[in-house]
Amino acid sequence: MRFFLTQAAPRLVNRFSCVLILVSSFALTGCAKFGLDCPNVATDQKSSFMAPAREFPLQIRADDRFTETERESIRQAVALWNEHGQRVMGQDVFAVQFAPVGTLAGDKLDGCGLADREGSRGFVLWREDASSQWSSFGFESRTPAITLRCHAGEDLIKQTVLINTGLIQPVQLSSIVLHELGHTIGLGHSCVEGSGADSYKGCTGINREHPYRIAVMYPSLWVRSVPSATSPDFDQIDGYLKSGGTVFATSGSVATAEVKSSLRDNDLERASCVLSL
Ligand SMILES: [Zn+2]
Repeated sequence: MRFFLTQAAPRLVNRFSCVLILVSSFALTGCAKFGLDCPNVATDQKSSFMAPAREFPLQIRADDRFTETERESIRQAVALWNEHGQRVMGQDVFAVQFAPVGTLAGDKLDGCGLADREGSRGFVLWREDASSQWSSFGFESRTPAITLRCHAGEDLIKQTVLINTGLIQPVQLSSIVLHELGHTIGLGHSCVEGSGADSYKGCTGINREHPYRIAVMYPSLWVRSVPSATSPDFDQIDGYLKSGGTVFATSGSVATAEVKSSLRDNDLERASCVLSL
């Protein structure tokens, strides 16, 4: 199936991009809202949806430049979504295949302008680690990943997630893929930046145990350095671990990074709605 972006049908096709911005934490910012009819979700989550994919299992073509370790992280994320898909609709949500994804030469870097990739039905997970290439796309080094979406009417038609593996901590790759795949099925963030609205809770002021804060679809992931590798502050590390962190070492120093290795109640609840539509 081919879709054309034409001036004649401006209401049919919308383009959205969701940018991940690297600050002291990842901010997985700004995705389109969409009004799905999910009567069982909380009132302040009514506007927390995006145009969903409709055909399952959705074939995702993942860049064969992902290393074996990275592939394992991607497979873990896919397996978690598939487990939920089996519970809700008796089938897998995603099927992932590692294959060449070609180049982006000549493609327009918006969701609808990207060429379809053979065998993917347009769903691509792209790996990039060259900073020159990344900047040639127009992305900053503070932006480790970007999701480009294209939907026609209420259906997501294609989506490309570009991940700059040179800008993220390997320990967080699976959490990031889990989050992006959530967008693919139609989940927006668990809360919206700022103070929000009645139909979409704002992230400002929610505490760290809040169900929307611990959700995979929360819009940020944090990374913290521990002051000294030789005399780490164990209380501080312990605090990080209690709030979902994993300790890792990088060239002589120690850091902790937030990892979300399972789907949380809020993710499961909203996903149950979109998967059963
Ligand atoms: Zn996001």
